[in-house]
Amino acid sequence: MAKSVPDHIVIGAGFTGLVHAFLSLEKGESVLVLEKKDRAGGLIRSVPTEYGIVETAANGILNCWELETLSSRLGLDLLFPDADAKKRYIFSDKKFKRLPLSVFEIIRFIFSALTVPSKPIPGESIYKWGKRVVGESFLSKVVEPALGGIYAGDLDAMSAEFVLGKFLAEDVPLWKNFRSYANSRKGKPKLHPGRKGTVSFRGGLGSILGALEARVSSQGKIKYKQEIISLKDIRKAYPNARITLATNLSFALKILKAEFKELKGYQGMLETLPIVSVTRFGKDSILSGKKGFGVLFPKDHKSFSSELGIRTRGILFNDFIFSGRTSDGIHSETYIMGGAGDREIASKAEEEIISIVEEDRKKLLPSGEIPLNHYVTVWKDALPVYGPQLFAFNRDLDRVLPPDIKVEGNFRSGIGLKSILERAFEQYGPKTS
Ligand SMILES: Cc1cc2nc3c(=O)[nH]c(=O)nc-3n(C[C@H](O)[C@H](O)[C@H](O)COP(=O)(O)OP(=O)(O)OC[C@H]3O[C@@H](n4cnc5c(N)ncnc54)[C@H](O)[C@@H]3O)c2cc1C
Repeated sequence: MAKSVPDHIVIGAGFTGLVHAFLSLEKGESVLVLEKKDRAGGLIRSVPTEYGIVETAANGILNCWELETLSSRLGLDLLFPDADAKKRYIFSDKKFKRLPLSVFEIIRFIFSALTVPSKPIPGESIYKWGKRVVGESFLSKVVEPALGGIYAGDLDAMSAEFVLGKFLAEDVPLWKNFRSYANSRKGKPKLHPGRKGTVSFRGGLGSILGALEARVSSQGKIKYKQEIISLKDIRKAYPNARITLATNLSFALKILKAEFKELKGYQGMLETLPIVSVTRFGKDSILSGKKGFGVLFPKDHKSFSSELGIRTRGILFNDFIFSGRTSDGIHSETYIMGGAGDREIASKAEEEIISIVEEDRKKLLPSGEIPLNHYVTVWKDALPVYGPQLFAFNRDLDRVLPPDIKVEGNFRSGIGLKSILERAFEQYGPKTS
């Protein structure tokens, strides 16, 4: 039962806010969550449709012991991907390739990984780091699509120190840094090899958000349609409560700069990127008989063009990844578009976005069948740019925030849900491990 004066106020009921609220309740604190919208979940929602489930944002989460712990405490079973969906492709030379490098390029990469010091230099972009450490071909054919797929960013604008720093802490070649990183995690509980990789839940990722929301509502309290505009007001109303701000980056900056003068200078400096996701239901697959997790399309780092003029950044094969995702005989592909280099797509009408998807698909599968349905989601400022300014902002947050105010979200240590979860578990200490 929630106490009338909460120990902990959480602002925002997305994945971040709900996880913090849940862990705080588990520690015996009383919690009040304040959410702007009339529903929880933030970016994530799993929408059931007549053809299958549509994920509005994340379609899976990288498994870790924290997720195993969380789901078992919520009474949820993890859903593991089908074995033949493990294959990830990169589109290169007009083909879906698992390894888009020539023998010479592989040898060149191995040589670099064994010899070139890999710690990012302060101020170095991912593009400059990649050219220096892994070489041009590995950078453009592997690093660009992989990071483009996760961060939807521009390698020139991304900070190598911020994105890669925690894996590459010493000025030694890649292989030594990876070995040290693996050693540094030795004390942590290990996952059974069969449970590693991307996972979800039977009803989609929305299931875990729904379970978190139900638990937080029953043991604490969630108030909906509460748009918080000032931390001062919250502190006045609840002077003894600690506060976790768990909104998106734009709002977090807006509210923080009004309170902490050291953060004012970041106004206009912290960019976010729009993302468009289109789930397309049909009967055929662009893989024509093969199965797989998804395909990424490398972009030229300056012009953002890719082979055949494909505008999509990546495609996920939903029903190949998780069984039970679609009705019988239906195939589901999610096209991820936008990000750096294609911000414009987020301002287009839905029909225009759908025709761009169909044009891309025709280039990949000219004989493709007609679609059954599309479900378009546009996020105007979903993803933060992991640039040097955001890196500095994070360091300033650690420096200026008093101990009773925490700021959390996908702009703190990684965009993915796994980073958000690991960071939250670290804060709530051994009782939750
Ligand atoms: C298309 C797409 C695909 C993705 N795929 C993956 C994936 O496969 N795997 C993965 O790990 N990650 C993925 N991500 C990233 C992941 O979904 C996000 O990083 C994560 O959901 C962010 O959660 P959050 O709670 O920090 O923020 P949000 O989901 O944005 O939640 C913030 C909450 O705060 C509320 N709020 C905002 N302002 C206020 C205010 N003033 N007062 C009160 N409440 C407020 C909002 O309404 C919202 O509910 C993807 C993201 C996108 C967009």
